[in-house]
Amino acid sequence: MPLISIDIKSGTLAQTENSTVKEVIVGIDLGTTNSLVAYINNQTQEAVALKDAGGSNKLVPSVIHFTPDGGILVGNEAKKMLIEQPQNTIYSVKRLMGKSYTDVQQYAGFFGYKIIDDDTESLVKIKVNNRFYTPIELSALILKALKQRAEQALQQTVTKAVITVPAYFNDAQRQATRDAGKLAGLDVLRIVNEPTAASLAYGIGLNPDDGRTIAVYDLGGGTFDISVLRIENGVFEVLSTNGDTFLGGDDFDRTIINYWLEMNGLTPDALHNNKSMGQQLRLLAEEAKMALSTAQNWQGMAGNLPCSLTRTQFETLIEPIVQRTITCCRQALADAKLTPAQIDEVVLVGGSTRVPMVKKAVEQFFNRRPHDELNPDEVVALGAAVQADILAGNNKDMLLLDVTPLSLGIETMGGLMDVIIARNTKIPAKAGRQYTTHVDGQSDMRISVYQGERDLVKDNRKLGEFSLKGIPAMPAGLPKVEIAFIIDADGILRVRAKELRSGVEQSIEVTPQYGLTEEEMAKMLLESIQHAEADRQVRALQEAINEAENLTATAEKFVTQNTAMLTPEEIDQTLLLVQDLRSVLQSGNKDLIHQRIETLNNFTRPFAERVMDVAIAKAMRGTKI
Ligand code: ADP
Ligand code: MG
Repeated sequence: MPLISIDIKSGTLAQTENSTVKEVIVGIDLGTTNSLVAYINNQTQEAVALKDAGGSNKLVPSVIHFTPDGGILVGNEAKKMLIEQPQNTIYSVKRLMGKSYTDVQQYAGFFGYKIIDDDTESLVKIKVNNRFYTPIELSALILKALKQRAEQALQQTVTKAVITVPAYFNDAQRQATRDAGKLAGLDVLRIVNEPTAASLAYGIGLNPDDGRTIAVYDLGGGTFDISVLRIENGVFEVLSTNGDTFLGGDDFDRTIINYWLEMNGLTPDALHNNKSMGQQLRLLAEEAKMALSTAQNWQGMAGNLPCSLTRTQFETLIEPIVQRTITCCRQALADAKLTPAQIDEVVLVGGSTRVPMVKKAVEQFFNRRPHDELNPDEVVALGAAVQADILAGNNKDMLLLDVTPLSLGIETMGGLMDVIIARNTKIPAKAGRQYTTHVDGQSDMRISVYQGERDLVKDNRKLGEFSLKGIPAMPAGLPKVEIAFIIDADGILRVRAKELRSGVEQSIEVTPQYGLTEEEMAKMLLESIQHAEADRQVRALQEAINEAENLTATAEKFVTQNTAMLTPEEIDQTLLLVQDLRSVLQSGNKDLIHQRIETLNNFTRPFAERVMDVAIAKAMRGTKI
């Protein structure tokens, strides 16, 4: 079957030489204010943001309107209803993703629609016309509109996507975004950080050989994010993030409205009873702001209110807001322990970076011209398309950027999980830790490798085990066994154990994700959250038992080795306290164990010091000065 592709610009159908339809993977920027879908045109190899059926708009306002007769509008049509029908018009749903009512209650007043508070602990819901919607369902409506747009523009079904999220999104928020995609009929191949996508759109990081440090300044409609990234070997690492979740272009609009009201001798209260006036002013303020990004002055009328603004007046109004973003930049650099001079590239993202004063402030702070060659409100979607193309295998030299979905670690004393590579670590990755023996003369050490988030290994998934044999006989605590975890770019884990004093070494290879479905992974994560408190207690108890076992063994060894320097009472009492401590090990009472550890420690401390003094004195006598 010949591939029919549609030329977006001219709208004509063109035939390509390919004999099979290659499935396209789209990149989606699911924004707070605006969303977009983009793809890589396989003829030009360029990333392109897709327009609506009319061929005009690329941005889809992230707004959903529910009509009284049960219809649903998404995008520009919905945005028009924002002021007049706030209860039925949902915006900024991204702010609610993966949040509970408790998380959002302090700014519930920000939303014009109703957020449900009957179950404050579980995920937040939104009430529209007697129906409850989750933020996931609402985001899915936006994603569905983007999917339809892509299918219409590309003339083929679209089922696979890469979706971007802010770098600071936690797992619940990322998972919610994934679920929204699933609900919209999209297979979400990857969730990518917005600053990472923006860098990819500029081709930064595509050459595996160059290492770069990048600052991504993203000023959107209602949020500001600054992210500092380090790219090395095609792996993006987030060094720091900062920002303000209530700072953006909307604030510019508000200062303009207040200025116009003042010019006309009115106060902001004037708008409370006059919604349509408010709406008009809001639209005009945004229009004026956008015009002033290129023009020097602007004039218009809101009803019979004359409204005008010059670039200079506008800049005076927004100066404090812009300075707040620079303060965030300073903090982000401090957190990453970097100076502006150590940043190799600065990338501008978000519609509000079109404001010349914003650009200038960023350039001054970093003392470097920022990237603004691409449309700032498109770059994230364009970069998502680049990532999608890499996943589609069209850019084979490129390393796949990925993270470990679950923590990897080994079993330590008492069946505890000791995490060596935490979940969400970018791969390839390498980490290690040193361990020692518990028993004198121990020559074997068993290393059991587990995957999962629970504190006890019995609740996690065992990946494999091996023994390090031939450790030379040494007292407990003396051998130094280094356990190294190395995950390569394909996700294969190699675990190596090496006794550093003797050099004996052993290793195994496992494939952590093998045979594990997404659902199982999600279940493992969920269980770890549900059992977090109980697990913490179990771990605390087990750690107390481990400490007690080490102490009783040391104390017994101490009395047998130093009988000559102790009184019979001291010996008897020590052994009695050791017994006391042992007798409560099975009690399950962590505090009681700690109490008896303390008693034993307090009793033995003075004569342990005495023995130590004698040993030192002896040693001193032996030294010749
Ligand atoms: P988000 O990432 O929050 O979804 P965008 O990156 O699409 O948002 O940015 C939207 C903001 O950009 C809005 O406040 C809009 O008014 C502003 N904006 C868009 N174009 C311009 C322009 N030419 N000049 C100034 N601001 C603009
Ligand atoms: Mg954005």
